[in-house]
Amino acid sequence: MTNTIIAKFGGTSVADADAMNRSADIVLSNPDVRVVVLSASAGVTNLLVALAEGCEQEKRHDLIDQIRRIQYAILGSLRESVVLREEIDRLLENITMLSEAAALATSAALTDELVSHGELISTLLFVELVRQRGVEAEWFDVRKVMRTNDRFGRAEPDTRALHEMAQLHLAPRLRETLIVTQGFIGSEDKGRTTTLGRGGSDYTAALLGEALGAARVDIWTDVPGIYTTDPRIVPAARRIDEIGFSEAAEMATFGAKILHPATLLPAVRSDIPVFVGSSKDPAAGGTLVCNKTNQPPLFRALALRRNQTLLTLHSLNMLHARGFLAEVFGILARHSISVDLITTSEVSVALTLDTTGSCTSGNSLLTTALLTELSSLCRVEVEENLALVALIGNDLSRACGVGKEVFGVMEPFNIRMICYGASSHNLCFLVPGENAEHVIQALHKNLFE
Ligand code: ASP
Ligand code: MG
Repeated sequence: MTNTIIAKFGGTSVADADAMNRSADIVLSNPDVRVVVLSASAGVTNLLVALAEGCEQEKRHDLIDQIRRIQYAILGSLRESVVLREEIDRLLENITMLSEAAALATSAALTDELVSHGELISTLLFVELVRQRGVEAEWFDVRKVMRTNDRFGRAEPDTRALHEMAQLHLAPRLRETLIVTQGFIGSEDKGRTTTLGRGGSDYTAALLGEALGAARVDIWTDVPGIYTTDPRIVPAARRIDEIGFSEAAEMATFGAKILHPATLLPAVRSDIPVFVGSSKDPAAGGTLVCNKTNQPPLFRALALRRNQTLLTLHSLNMLHARGFLAEVFGILARHSISVDLITTSEVSVALTLDTTGSCTSGNSLLTTALLTELSSLCRVEVEENLALVALIGNDLSRACGVGKEVFGVMEPFNIRMICYGASSHNLCFLVPGENAEHVIQALHKNLFE
């Protein structure tokens, strides 16, 4: 364990020259920050994804122009550096070439190669900015150490290889200089570029923290920490100063969009605290996610996940039978679908689909092929436009009176499904989408205010 801190800055924190300067202030104010992990400047990844989907020439030029404008605006704020300008231009040319290729034929590997340019450019600009402020810094290509499998678009890190490579190539450099590197991207065995999935830079920071034995990982974003619920839904929501790993992990999986859901895996594994704060207002403090917190409260937070689909499978064959659920889960697994919540009765099983854990995203999860296969086994009912409200807390399934308190508040609402007891950290309700905000407001008012 060292004093090393890994500081990660999200897209809004490197969106333009002002944002980059504020982020540099944060880095330079703490000598323990030795590794800086950056996202692409805000908006750039979306533009690159659009290019990777393949578009005709006019649209392509327009998208590339938008990227060039965002990056040139930052470049223009720096003292002229011929080397940097040439490098940025070379990467912009790559983008043009790769998006022409994508217009002919798209592929997951090509997409990753293309979108990686956002992080490559933002890190080049940031290194120069730090150097022009008189501090020595080194641009480091994270693909040298971030080894992943070849599941393009959602690659999984090889943590053993990462550890080895990071100890070899990265650890010795930290003593000498500040390292600036890319979030989100990696490379597979053949050296082709991969990505860890949208929002994956948080995950990169935590993985590097683990590989380097860091003392802390700081995630700088545009909100000053984790709140009891989304302040846009409940203005009275409060910032949580300290929260346990498992509670924060529940929040991330249940839709609080502050941390990439995988971020806490390496943090928990290696017991590295994670701090979340706003680069716009570092003085406002933030939330520390760590192993032990003082007196964890019964009710901690409320998370909301919209656009949930509920599948209810009815089969009389389930009556006193065995193996039915195994068959259902086998089919779902073959279609690369990750199940989220589940409840059962004697002749039916109801489940929701996990869009982040599954292979494709969004509505395309429920393919005709899947429904046909399930229908050969049982009667299938599909309900859409539901929302998942998760009450996160501690010892929820062991404390007395939780039911009375919570269900009392839920009285005016229709609850489509309840999951309670599998984890002592959450109690989940599936409610009609149009009720979701009211449910959150009512629960917050009664349990948190
Ligand atoms: N730039 C990538 C994205 O927008 C990764 C990240 O921001 O974490 O998804
Ligand atoms: Mg981001």
